[in-house]
Order: sequence, then structure tokens, then C-alpha cells
Amino acid sequence: MIQSENERIITGNEAQGDRALDLSLRPKKLNEYVGQEKIKENLAIFLKAAQKRGEPIEHVLLYGAPGLGKTTLAHVIANELGANIRVTSGPAIEKGGDLAAILTNLGEGDILFIDEIHRLNTTVEEILYPAMEDYALDIIIGKGPSARTLRIDLPRFTIIGATTKASLLSAPLRDRFGITYHLNFYEHDDIGKIIDRSADILNINLENEAASEIANRSRRTPRVANRLLKRVRDYCDVKGNGEVNRELCHSAFTLMEIDELGLDWVDCKILETIIDKFNGGPVGLNTIAAATGEDVSTIEEIYEPYLMQLGFLDRGPRGRTVTDAAYRHLGRRKGQDSTV
Ligand code: ADP
Repeated sequence: MIQSENERIITGNEAQGDRALDLSLRPKKLNEYVGQEKIKENLAIFLKAAQKRGEPIEHVLLYGAPGLGKTTLAHVIANELGANIRVTSGPAIEKGGDLAAILTNLGEGDILFIDEIHRLNTTVEEILYPAMEDYALDIIIGKGPSARTLRIDLPRFTIIGATTKASLLSAPLRDRFGITYHLNFYEHDDIGKIIDRSADILNINLENEAASEIANRSRRTPRVANRLLKRVRDYCDVKGNGEVNRELCHSAFTLMEIDELGLDWVDCKILETIIDKFNGGPVGLNTIAAATGEDVSTIEEIYEPYLMQLGFLDRGPRGRTVTDAAYRHLGRRKGQDSTV
């Protein structure tokens, strides 16, 4: 059975049905934003300083895996500053004219959030450089020898760019961001706080032990935590009296085929393919993708980072290798074909 990305429960990517949930659960202010303490500390100072000087903040680049809170943080920054925020994404800005239209509609101090900024095309990127550096738009009028450039001044605005792959950002674009924050996977306790907060907002009667079971399976990612909470709540509404307790949680996760570390069948398929077909590795990403029938980018962005976090997968110059810890988790022994 092939599940589409939307049906996969453990992906950090936004899936169908997430948007409404995201909106209701999204923290609005810095003090509601759980975890990422270092970033929050830095950000609080940086925001205060800009406010004190009465200046717009520098351009900010946020990078980290899907679902870790980049969009949320961009909105938090706007809320803290009382600034307008306009939201777009790299692939949505197809032509230079699209970007020019967006930029000329911004007001002084506005924030432009560009999600997936690594997917901007080069023509658009080149228009963005002077806009970010000098708050100016260079428009070329005419063609050939008679062509001339017209410079239009823009209001002082701030770009907040978000990317899952900072390495794909061109160096000139990266250099134009005054500040870069790398969002890490969350600590277990912080995921627990996010689950408690969401349960409060959604009026879910959640036992402590059940909250911990959900946190264990959330892949240290807030979006996954919220999604699992909602799925478990649905299950408990149908199978129980609405209270989310440990036993029902267990049955719900068994039904969803999510193990106690938050691994689903795709994670297991990736690890087992490397073990069975490539003797545990090392093996290249493209080969893994071909052998598992998964997308290279899905493996790279969704599955691999968490497997590496768990210490189940190593990435070296010759490819990916399954670690001893992963063999143990799967109940496999090195050099043996069959399960133990
Ligand atoms: P990204 O843009 O990195 O893919 P989002 O900002 O859309 O992730 O976050 C997904 C959801 O996770 C949000 O709607 C929010 O409910 C929740 N979330 C993310 N970060 C936090 C956080 N630090 N504290 C509480 N909830 C969070």
C-alpha cells in the first residue's frame, strides 16, 4: 500500500487538514513559543534594540526541518513588533514582476515572509538583492542599447526567509541576511509542554502518561506532536469516553503503525532495505530512493534527519550506514538475513 505524503502521519510537512489546526494552535507571542531558548533569548534582545532605535529589524533567515516552527516564529516576530506580515513562498514568485508587485505594496516596517526561499529562481533572486540591501527596485526599461535602468525606492521592510535546506541558498542571498537562526529538533520536555498547551486549547482531557506517550512518538517536532494529539483524541472519542489515557493511546498508535520512537513503516523500510539489500551500507541516497520507491527529497528532508537524530543512521562520504542501535531497535543482528 502506498501512502501519499498527506496520509503520512509522522511527516513534519504540512498535510491536508493541518492548516486549521496550525492556525488555532500557533503561538502568537514569544512567551508562548515553547523551547528554542537560545533563539528566543537572542531574538528578544534583537527586537528590543530595533524597537528602541525605531528601525525595522534586519533580514532574518530561519532554517530547520519542516514543522519545527519557522512560520510560527516569523508570525511571532511580526506580532512582537506590531508589524504587518505578508506571506509568500519561493515557488509562488515565478517572475520578477511578481516580486516587484509584492515589494511595491509593502509599507514601512512591514515583514515579508518567504517560505522555501531556496526555491526562488535566479531572476527573482537578483531583483531581491538591491531590494534587501538598499531598499530599492531596479527596473530595466526598453531593450538593447537604448535600455536604461530606473530605480524605485522601497519602504524599509524586513524579509524573513525560511528554508529546510540552507545549503541550497546561493551565497549572495545568504549574505544579505543579517541574522540566521537554526531551529533544532525539540527537547522531549518541550514537546510535552507543546502537547499540554495544545490539549488545553483544544479542550482535550489528557492523562499525563498519555501525553508522554505522544511526546515519545512526535519525532521531536511540534507539528507532528499536534497531529498525533488530534489523531489520538479522535480515536479516544470513538473507542472510549473521550479521555485520552495510556491504554487507548497505545491501541491508537498500534493502529497507526507508529512505534514507541515515532518510526512508521517508511522509516523501517528505509533501514531494512539498507540492511537487507546493502548489508547495512554505506549506500548512496539515490540508490536508497530507487530501492525503496521513495522520493530522494522525502528521504532527505523527512526521514533521514530524525533517523540520524536517533543515531540509527550515519551519513558519511560513501553514503548512509545503519548503526548498531538501529539493528537492535529492529531486532536484527548484523550479518544475519533473518530477524532474531
Ligand atoms: P514550519 O514553518 O517550520 O514548517 P510551523 O511554524 O508551521 O513549522 O509549525 C507547525 C505547528 O507547530 C504550528 O502551527 C504550531 O502550532 C506548532 N509549533 C511550532 N513551533 C512551536 C513552538 N515553539 N511552540 C508551540 N507550538 C509550536
